[in-house]
Amino acid sequence: MNAPVKSEHLNTREIQSLDSAHFLHPFTDHGDLATRGARVITHADNIYVWDSEGNKILDAMSGLWCVNAGYGRKELADAAHAQMMTLPFYNSFFQTTNVPAVKLAAKLASLAPAVGGRSFQHVFYSSSGSESNDSNVRMVRRYWDLMGQPQRKIIIGRHNGYHGSTMAGASLGGMSGMHAQGDLPIPNITHVEQPYFFENALPGESEADFGVRAAGFLEAKILELGADKVAAFIAEPVQGAGGVIIPPATYWPEIQRIVDKYGILLISDEVICAFGRLGHWFAYEKFGYRPDLVTFAKAVTSGYVPLGGVMVGDRVAKVLIEQGGEFNHGYTYSGHPVACAVALANIELMERENLVGRVKDDIGPYLAKRFAELADHPLVGVAETCGFVAGLVLVKDKVTKTAFDPNLAVGMVCRKHCFGNGLIMRAVGDRMIIAPPLVMTHAQIDEMIDLIKRCLDATLEEVRAKGWL
Ligand code: PMP
Repeated sequence: MNAPVKSEHLNTREIQSLDSAHFLHPFTDHGDLATRGARVITHADNIYVWDSEGNKILDAMSGLWCVNAGYGRKELADAAHAQMMTLPFYNSFFQTTNVPAVKLAAKLASLAPAVGGRSFQHVFYSSSGSESNDSNVRMVRRYWDLMGQPQRKIIIGRHNGYHGSTMAGASLGGMSGMHAQGDLPIPNITHVEQPYFFENALPGESEADFGVRAAGFLEAKILELGADKVAAFIAEPVQGAGGVIIPPATYWPEIQRIVDKYGILLISDEVICAFGRLGHWFAYEKFGYRPDLVTFAKAVTSGYVPLGGVMVGDRVAKVLIEQGGEFNHGYTYSGHPVACAVALANIELMERENLVGRVKDDIGPYLAKRFAELADHPLVGVAETCGFVAGLVLVKDKVTKTAFDPNLAVGMVCRKHCFGNGLIMRAVGDRMIIAPPLVMTHAQIDEMIDLIKRCLDATLEEVRAKGWL
């Protein structure tokens, strides 16, 4: 048997070689990883992380869109510790419950605003966004069976949407690279085009017109499939992993009109957008639509421990509860007491520090103002924000908005310069995106914008030197 490994005594090379020998990472080319070695993140505080070489890095992605309260929050560690000492685990099957899960469900119900007479009084728990969307598929199908319309099976998602990595999650999402591996999507899931104005608008088309036309892709698909076969439409309020694709203001109202017209359930996947990211506890409120199910995860605990779930609106909850009998679905960790205790402490912290309000009224508008300056850079075709997410597009010609050859992977060049300059920014093709912690100060936003400018300059220099312009 191997001797136990003491991480504090390992140097970077040793950690990297153990890593590539034993750890299969998510979404990673392991051949590539073995040659280059993983970056080892050792600790974090506020909006910064440090690697094993001592480099301090400004984390403009909040980990993976989740550390909304910032790193190093003692309140969250204390809540986990206290709950672990009281009741580290008990299941919520077999007519049992636990106090943190109950309190959190009631708290979430109070935070989810009622819209158009529809409220959210119930929560179904999981441990991740992917699992939550699997639960959505199960609930949607069960709902239509109970409604006497079992033929309503098809769920419509969007190309370039992201809903997770399980069989159902990856199928609901519209990532072609994921569908290409493992025979996805699973049956009865199909997709329509995304509302990406920069790439998909017709010449001369206004953003408002494009928004209505893009929503119309859903109606056309419903008519093609037959409305009586369609169970639900799932979408992110703002597409995150797809590259921070912000829909035109006309898009969501038209989607609402269409789902209402055909009686289709609407699932708002807010794994990224809920808990303050767009300046609201839940993002459907920002856009004014009325979902039946809302997926959440990530920032419910600021990522400190895994927790996910689905806010179940009255329309579905009533049928499941009053007519459903036993719902044969659930997870060992549904309503995990430690995860729920940390979520309660996280929400309390967010309320105390008004993190949601400051995105809406303070740091969100300030980011919008500073980020807009980046549009003047020679490489930037468009720079846009929504709440506390932002994206910019690297282009070859900013006047004609001509894209670079995708094979040049200019976004990855930029990302390399970000790491080199102490900044974590994500590249999605040639879109560079950020979703910083909601605790950022104005001075830290300035620091981040300066870093982004420096990285764009370094990218421009490299692109010119390589003759790609
Ligand atoms: N839905 C959305 C909108 C997401 O952004 C993600 C993750 N980025 C997921 C679902 C999947 O969540 P998880 O990785 O926790 O399974």
